[in-house]
Amino acid sequence: MESALSARDRVGVQDFLLLENYNSEAAFIENLRRRYREGLIYTYIGSVLVSVNPYRELEIYSKQNMERHRGVNFYEISPHIFALADNSYRALRTERRNQCILISGESGAGKTEASKKILQYYTHICPTRNNTHTIRERLLQSNPVLEAFGNAKTLRNDNSSRFGKYMDIQFDYKGAPIGGHILNYLLEKSRVAHQNHGERNFHIFYQLLEGGEEPLLKRLGLEKTNPQHYHYLVKGNCPRVSSINDKNGWKVVRNALTIIGFNEEEIQELMEIVASVLHLGNIQFGEDEEGETHITTGPQLQYLSQLLGVDGSVLQEALTHKKIVAKGEEVISQYLSVCSVLLSDFNTLDLCLYSHAFCLLVDEQTDEVYYSSKCSSIIGLLDIYGFEVFQHNSFEQFCINYCNEKLQQLFIELTLKSEQEEYEAEGIVWERVKYFNNKIICDLVEEKHKGIIAVLDEECLRRGDASDITFLEKLEDTLGGHAHFVTHKMANGKIRKAIGREEFRLVHYAGEVNYNVSGFLDKNNDLLYRHLKEVLCQSGNHIVSQCFHADELMDQRRPETAATQFKLSLAKLMEILMSKEPSYVRCIKPNDAKQPGRFDEVLVRHQVKYLGLMENLRVRRAGFAYRRNYEVFLERYKSLCPDTWPNWRGKLPEGVATLVKHLNYKPEEYKLGRCKIFIRFPRTLFVTEDALEAK
Ligand code: ADP
Ligand code: MG
Repeated sequence: MESALSARDRVGVQDFLLLENYNSEAAFIENLRRRYREGLIYTYIGSVLVSVNPYRELEIYSKQNMERHRGVNFYEISPHIFALADNSYRALRTERRNQCILISGESGAGKTEASKKILQYYTHICPTRNNTHTIRERLLQSNPVLEAFGNAKTLRNDNSSRFGKYMDIQFDYKGAPIGGHILNYLLEKSRVAHQNHGERNFHIFYQLLEGGEEPLLKRLGLEKTNPQHYHYLVKGNCPRVSSINDKNGWKVVRNALTIIGFNEEEIQELMEIVASVLHLGNIQFGEDEEGETHITTGPQLQYLSQLLGVDGSVLQEALTHKKIVAKGEEVISQYLSVCSVLLSDFNTLDLCLYSHAFCLLVDEQTDEVYYSSKCSSIIGLLDIYGFEVFQHNSFEQFCINYCNEKLQQLFIELTLKSEQEEYEAEGIVWERVKYFNNKIICDLVEEKHKGIIAVLDEECLRRGDASDITFLEKLEDTLGGHAHFVTHKMANGKIRKAIGREEFRLVHYAGEVNYNVSGFLDKNNDLLYRHLKEVLCQSGNHIVSQCFHADELMDQRRPETAATQFKLSLAKLMEILMSKEPSYVRCIKPNDAKQPGRFDEVLVRHQVKYLGLMENLRVRRAGFAYRRNYEVFLERYKSLCPDTWPNWRGKLPEGVATLVKHLNYKPEEYKLGRCKIFIRFPRTLFVTEDALEAK
């Protein structure tokens, strides 16, 4: 029989806490590699589940497999996403504590698949109520619609989610799912107007063109169904993708929209927005003899006016003029040059239309499945990008990485807090082990008055000569000397070369990232001019007029900037998550070719670093590596001690004490709590496991 040791050599350890050398990144990666080679994509770091994308269908997600995990303890069978899901559900049922599952990782690492597996697990194992059948359907159907509007083909992932998603699954007192609630974060709306080479716009555009019924397309003015005909669909030069069936996608989305409660008219209004965006992309401007700007593409303007239910001349004026309030109340309407039209409102209109429609879709689904009155407990699911580090990092990466700092802060607080609580409950003395607390970086970004966001907002408010560069200079003035903030000017020697003149570097908990300031002010401002908003308020399309409220226009205050809005929504998210008991899924992409069986060590090392896995391990190791209930521990190892075998008749703690004494555990190796034994070093448990194997 294979001993536990040699089996470990082959398939590695199933929990990184059991690694002998828990400070060694090389040992960590080697363990991942071994397991991946054996088709074992899951490994724990305590209650954190690390998952490596297999890029092939594994036979581990069947109904039988779901049954196998129902009610089974975390450590009893090999690591699995179902085990994690079940563990959360059981804690919810037995301890009545709300749960959340946080899934992170870079694009293509398997986050969305993981969240789908969790949803499938719950829809399978949870009891049903009379009406939960439809709720289940809705929970599952929320995916295709959000994916159609929020996902796109990118170089990294053919079905990449371009937004972060938090979803509440609500359960009644019997543990049946009765509703859900979705929040979305940071939709990458710039994709509407621009795609990199080899990437596509959001799926819905192609689905509508490929699958839309003829009368519908005709009404929308989209008779030309070749994507190449639309400016917004040609930039990436990649209209069709072999792995994607747009025609079929359309059917699925249409059906899903009906299930979540859209009637025919509403579906049409939604598609009117999608079509408007395509027409907007094809609008062109020109100058007449007097140098005044006009729309030169008549048919597009006409379709737009029809679809948005706004008079053509009003729309034309709104797109080519700028209203200026001069001398008190008097409003002057001024022509914009072609160049400034293209740079200004026009460019934000399509993005704004699209993102508003997206948010509305999210809200709509929420309303449809919301039954809060009977809700007794909640499991939250967060599917959000992990650290993004590219050659060129901009405002978007800054926001995403800030979000990840906040999540790490939450991880530290919740993990250490619950560890501490457990030790207290068990009456165990706690010894601190060092780890890095990243609060200092969160403060650097979000602190009032002197954080990076505050400085950015200030520059956005300041008119005159404010620019991305003056923003950078202000940052240097305000933050110079901060241990986690460096610029070209402040750096010396080797580092200086590695930071561009238009960049600032943040030393994140997971590593360094350089951000290029170009575009920060515009992206943060993110304003749709009042004039255009006024026009959209009058829209005959109900969805559009719902998105642009007239009372919003009455509000004279300046709307929050993009960064501040994000900061506020993150703060709310943290509050939601803080009140729950967390579990974590950290996803890793093993290669860039989307191929099974390939484990690119350089790529994996990068992710282990930026997912903060070594830091996770350290935080977990700050406590005891292992803990077991007395009962479980005694049951498993009682055969190793003649005094406890075959049955221990006394009290459980005494039985365990007798057992460990017989096993020669040293006092520094373990502690006995009220109901649990705590084992400090993995080695101790290994030796015991081996003894068991050898019997
Ligand atoms: P992310 O949301 O992290 O960007 P996805 O969850 O969309 O990544 O996964 C990208 C692709 O990887 C999926 O479309 C699928 O082909 C594959 N994949 C991810 N996880 C699994 C899994 N557990 N089993 C099989 N294939 C997977
Ligand atoms: Mg995704």
